[in-house]
Amino acid sequence: MRKIFFCLILLVTLIPVIAFGSDHSSLIKKNSKSLVKLYKYLHSHPELSRQEKKTSKKMAVELEKAGFEVTENIGGYGVVGVYKNGDGPVVMVRTDMDALPIKEETGLPYASKVKAVDEKDKKVSVMHACGHDMHMTVFIGTARLLMKLNNQWKGTLVMVAQPSEENIGGAKAMIEDGLFKRFPHPDYALALHVMPMPSVMVSYKEGYMFAGSSSVDITVRGIGGHGAYPHGSKDPIVLSASMIEAFQTIISRETDSKEPAVITVGSIHGGTARNIIPEEVKMALTIRAYPDKLLDTLVKSVKRVAEGTAIASGFPKDRMPVFTEVVRCPSVYNDPKLTRRIVKAFKKNVPQLFKSDRIIASEDFAHYRFVEPKFPTVIFGIGVYKMETFVEAQKKGTFPPAMHNPKFGPDDVKTTIKTGVNAMSTALFELLGK
Ligand SMILES: [Zn+2]
Ligand SMILES: [Zn+2]
Repeated sequence: MRKIFFCLILLVTLIPVIAFGSDHSSLIKKNSKSLVKLYKYLHSHPELSRQEKKTSKKMAVELEKAGFEVTENIGGYGVVGVYKNGDGPVVMVRTDMDALPIKEETGLPYASKVKAVDEKDKKVSVMHACGHDMHMTVFIGTARLLMKLNNQWKGTLVMVAQPSEENIGGAKAMIEDGLFKRFPHPDYALALHVMPMPSVMVSYKEGYMFAGSSSVDITVRGIGGHGAYPHGSKDPIVLSASMIEAFQTIISRETDSKEPAVITVGSIHGGTARNIIPEEVKMALTIRAYPDKLLDTLVKSVKRVAEGTAIASGFPKDRMPVFTEVVRCPSVYNDPKLTRRIVKAFKKNVPQLFKSDRIIASEDFAHYRFVEPKFPTVIFGIGVYKMETFVEAQKKGTFPPAMHNPKFGPDDVKTTIKTGVNAMSTALFELLGK
């Protein structure tokens, strides 16, 4: 990430700002005040994954007001808006809607004070720390703009407001609820994500953009006993320590060193007292890689190493570790041909373009590229920070807060909305233009 930011600073300093496309800019400007208001409303009213009741209603109302035919409650709180504007391609635009269980520390006047009960019945603070509030604002801004200029394009626009991106369930739930059977099947699908970069900037990446990820739980089972007599038991804590070390050799010795991959044991719990060898230890892992085949191999290797280490340590057959893959998200692969086409259009109309590196985080937009019959998908990035914010952070040898940080928050809301609506509508006019 560090390398990216140095390049960003350089780019921002060296490349002059090109004017926004004059066709759209006056309409974007006209809408700016109400979109900033919408953004602030969404930011201060975040909802957790699977709880996006009010947010989805807001999206439905806004799409309806803009002139779309709206259907609610697809795959949970999913919303679909369709506008048929004559013969032409079908293009889907997707926004996500959910927020995170994080206590906001931005100090913004419209910061979230919302608390909610999560799926484990725990009361948590809620914050739009991944910028999905900005995605929704740009989504509505784009919908309004395309409707106002509907004499300049032909085809069908399918606006999809998707719930539960953060827990990787929303896209799949909408697909399973007939998103591509009940509504026009797209020829192309587009999305965007905020990035911690200058607000005039749009980033793109051909091919792999976000990594695939697998969430794995392992219960390491042992035979409990007295801490003074380990030979009379099977110690799952010592076995867990061996496993964790062995998992890292999967990366260093079993994967191509040119291909980045990560295995992180993010949580480990076991034992109640210093002199008791417990019956079990619970571990939670995240496994990440880009090619889906490599991710699949890594998941299988983790299972093999967990079992193999238990066998090598003399654990009985009925005390083998229990391996559960909780959820898997494939990698986001931006269709190269479609990316090149959109970037060509961006070059005429977007102030600053940045060719980004791959990102090891995941995005459940990934699921749409596996829908049959297949259609090309592209997600691109938009910046959220004023240039001064970057310079200030640089002076301190750091960078502005990134997503999922309690201090993450666009400090240039107006420009970010303008950049986002301009970029998304530029891409849409390229695909739908007469
Ligand atoms: Zn996120
Ligand atoms: Zn996100």
